Amino acid sequence: MTAWQPTRTSGVLVAGQWQTGEGARWELIDPLTRQVHGQLQGASAEQLERAVAAARQALADWRALGYAGRGQWLARIAAAVQQQAEGLIALQQRYSGKPAHEASMDVADVVATFDYYAQLCETLPERQPVAVPLAEVAVSYQREPVGVAGLITPWNFPMVTSAWKLAPALAAGCTLVLKPSELSPMAELALLNIIQGLGLPQGVVNLVPGGAEVGRWLCAHPGIDKISFTGSRAVGQQILQGAAQRIQRVSLELGGKSALIVRADADLDLAAQLACDGAFFNAGQMCSATSRLLVHRHCYAPLLERIRQRMADYQTGPLISAGQLARVASLVAQGLAQAPDLALHQVPQHEAGFGFPLTLVEGLAVDNVLWQEEIFGPVLCTMAFDSDEQAVALANDSPYGLVATLVSRDLAAAEALADRLQAGTVWINTPQLIFPQAAWGGYKQSSLGRELGPWGLEAFSELKHRLVSAG
Ligand code: NAD
Repeated sequence: MTAWQPTRTSGVLVAGQWQTGEGARWELIDPLTRQVHGQLQGASAEQLERAVAAARQALADWRALGYAGRGQWLARIAAAVQQQAEGLIALQQRYSGKPAHEASMDVADVVATFDYYAQLCETLPERQPVAVPLAEVAVSYQREPVGVAGLITPWNFPMVTSAWKLAPALAAGCTLVLKPSELSPMAELALLNIIQGLGLPQGVVNLVPGGAEVGRWLCAHPGIDKISFTGSRAVGQQILQGAAQRIQRVSLELGGKSALIVRADADLDLAAQLACDGAFFNAGQMCSATSRLLVHRHCYAPLLERIRQRMADYQTGPLISAGQLARVASLVAQGLAQAPDLALHQVPQHEAGFGFPLTLVEGLAVDNVLWQEEIFGPVLCTMAFDSDEQAVALANDSPYGLVATLVSRDLAAAEALADRLQAGTVWINTPQLIFPQAAWGGYKQSSLGRELGPWGLEAFSELKHRLVSAG
């Protein structure tokens, strides 16, 4: 693939045409070197207006295609992304600073997501009969697209978080306007360039790059029937408040402060691997980071020794931006100010860029900011526990509830613990595997609704029941 290059004249996609951005302009900075890659000019309010109008115009025909017709488009998108995988991997490396193995996983996830929804579309009838014990009526239900969807995504897995919304929205029959993060817009530019390049009917997908302001315009636009947002809890709260005015449909995927629990009977090599991946993969910039490591006191010292050894040559990228680096550094400084005797073990990373050292923290109190706040950087906080009871209480003691990982040789005990954890996904003795077939989202303030699987499709659908006299 020829990598999709940023030009100031082609960042906005409206009604099938790439247009000159007429909004704010900003620099795209290489997180590995701090060099400026180029500039991008985002959408203006007028361009967003035209994008919403184009999506509305395209809605009836897209809906009329039915699941079967839309599924064929999704399969074509999956195949085209797969064909251009090499270029997309290079692009993720270039603009987000990800190492090749992490960037490859992102692209594979995008392909799997479009493939999954293509297959789901093949299995869905347009209308489904409902068995009711009444001879005089025939009941059926159908799912209809919720309408024009506004999709807003973050920078940590660009392309992936967007694909998790694009594929189910398109499958459901919605048309859409996507606003990617201003820190990683090239991933979505490339993805939509591939999608539009296939000749998708004009106006079905539209792209409006820009910052918070463009996101706010999108949320406030009366032509948007549904907002699907992934990002911080603070912005999620603002979006929810705004949505109250029109009872607008909203799905939110927000933050996390998740736990990895290691029982006394655990395989410690496996536990060390899962702890490092859970905290340091993607430089810890994961909503699902298991940044709270809870270890049974009997194996605390040997596990931490194994983790320190792994940290010495762990491969990951830098943080995305100077702002994110400053935020993570400030949280660690606050944690130290609260408890000057904290034990920190650090391994420097990408010092020419926005790298933050891989950091292992010991000796925390539960009220320490590092134990309480989502850090979104490579910082692993540890605590010893004495009983399953205490481990569950510590893990659930958070306003968030996205995921958890359990490591134990006693599967029955681990399953019993999983039942008691307030988390949308619990991994037992496995890495953080995510399949498009399974739901994504969490308890409490981590999410409103679920993405992926049939639940992801439902999030972009309205349900209509029909009762017809049989007489
Ligand atoms: P963010 O909330 O700052 O920004 C997310 C997106 O919202 C960006 O596109 C941004 O431009 C836009 N935005 C900002 N202010 C807005 C406003 N007032 N109205 C509308 N849009 C606005 O989040 P971020 O820093 O890009 O991403 C990090 C956060 O995302 C973390 O909290 C992380 O946990 C969360 N996240 C969650 C998941 C999940 O699946 N639960 C996945 C990835 C990231």
